[in-house]
Amino acid sequence: MKIHEYQAKELFASYGVATQQGYVAYTKEEAVECAKKLSDKAYVVKAQAHCGGRGKAGGVKLARSLAEVESAADKILGMRIINRQTGAEGKLVRKVLVTGAVNIKKEYYLSLAVDNENASVIIIASGAGGTEIEEIAATKPELIVKQLVSPVTGLRDYEARYVAKKIGIPKENTKEFIAMLKNMYKLFIDKDCSLVEINPLVETEEGKLIAIDGKVNFDDNALFRHPDIVELRDVDEENPKEYEAGKHDLNYVSLDGSIGCMVNGAGLAMATMDIIHAFGGEPANFLDVGGTATTERVTAAFKILSDPSVKAILVNIFGGIVKCDVIAEGIVIAAREVGLNVPLIVRLDGTNVEKGKSILKESGLKIYACDDLRSAAKKAVEMAH
Ligand code: GDP
Ligand code: MG
Repeated sequence: MKIHEYQAKELFASYGVATQQGYVAYTKEEAVECAKKLSDKAYVVKAQAHCGGRGKAGGVKLARSLAEVESAADKILGMRIINRQTGAEGKLVRKVLVTGAVNIKKEYYLSLAVDNENASVIIIASGAGGTEIEEIAATKPELIVKQLVSPVTGLRDYEARYVAKKIGIPKENTKEFIAMLKNMYKLFIDKDCSLVEINPLVETEEGKLIAIDGKVNFDDNALFRHPDIVELRDVDEENPKEYEAGKHDLNYVSLDGSIGCMVNGAGLAMATMDIIHAFGGEPANFLDVGGTATTERVTAAFKILSDPSVKAILVNIFGGIVKCDVIAEGIVIAAREVGLNVPLIVRLDGTNVEKGKSILKESGLKIYACDDLRSAAKKAVEMAH
C-alpha cells in the first residue's frame, strides 16, 4: 500500500525524522489559508498523488508570496502527472501540500527497503540525491551506496556511520544523520514497511538535515496488524478494479491486452498469460480466484473482467480442492447475472470435470469448452481478434 507525501511526513514527524511542517489543500483558496498558518516567508506547493517525478512534471512549485501560493495551487490542482511511474493515463492531482521552503545546500538520497535475496533490510543512499537519482543509478552506479542490515541485530551505529561517511555527510551532522536513520529504521520495522525513502534528504544552508520529500510503502500482507495505516489509504489513487478485486480477496492486476483471464492459482495464471502470448494475444489482466473459488467470487471476478477493452474471456480452472462442477455452476450463474456479451472460452480439468462440462453444455450459454490449455488459449486469441 502506498500513501501520500504529507502522510509520510506525518509519520516521519512522529518518529523524530526531521521534516517541514505543512498542510493539505483541495482548492487554491485553502492553499492560501494553509500558507498563512506557516511562519515561513517562502513556500513550496506540491502535488499530492501516488507517484514520484512530480518536480519534473511541474507538480512542485516554489512560492514567495501568498499570491504566488494561490497561482501555484491553481496550476497544480487538476493537473495530470504523466511519467514512467504513472503509465499512459497519468495521475490526476486532487490535493496539494503547502510547506515552508528550505534553503538547500546539498541533496542526498536515503532509503530503506527489503532485500529479498539477502533476507535483510537494505540501506540505499547517495550523495547525489534529488530529481536525477534514477539517471544517476543507471549511469553512475558507483555513487550509490548500499549497506545490508540484519533484521536480527537491527541497525547498528557503525553501519549508519559508514553510510554517512560514504555519501559525504559533514562530520558535524553525523550524529544527527545516525539518529535520523535509526528513527527511519524503527518506522520501517514497526509498521512493516516495504520502503521508506527520503529524496531529497537536504543539508540546509543553516547546517541542518531535513527530509523535504517522503515516500513510505507498506507490505499489504501485514496491513491486518496496522489499522492506523489502513486508515491512510486513499482509494482515489488506486486502480478501481484492483480495489474492487481486493474486497473479494481476488488477486487482480490490470494489464493492457484484450483477453480477460480467470484462473485459479498464481502459477497457473502466469502459465495462462504466457500461453496467450505464445499464440500472439495479450492478456487484459492477471486474476487468481484462489483455491476456494465460490459462486460469489466467480461472479465478482466476472464483473471485474467485464470491461470494454476485454474482447474474450478465458477461464482456466484446475479442479483440485475446488471441484469443477462447483466452478461450472458459478460460471453459469455469473455469466447470466453479468449478461456476458463477449466470447467465453472455458478450460476445466481435474475433480468432477465431466459433471462440470455437462453443466456448461446444458446451460444453453454460448460457451466454448476446451479440453486443454493449448486449444483454449488459441481459441481465446482467435476470438479476441
Ligand atoms: P519529486 O519530484 O516528486 O520527487 O518531488 P520533491 O519533493 O522531491 O521535489 C523535487 C525537487 O524540488 C527537489 O529535489 C528540490 O530540488 C525542489 N524542492 C522541493 N522543495 C524545496 C524547497 O523547500 N526549497 C528548494 N529550494 N527546493 C525545493
Ligand atoms: Mg523527491
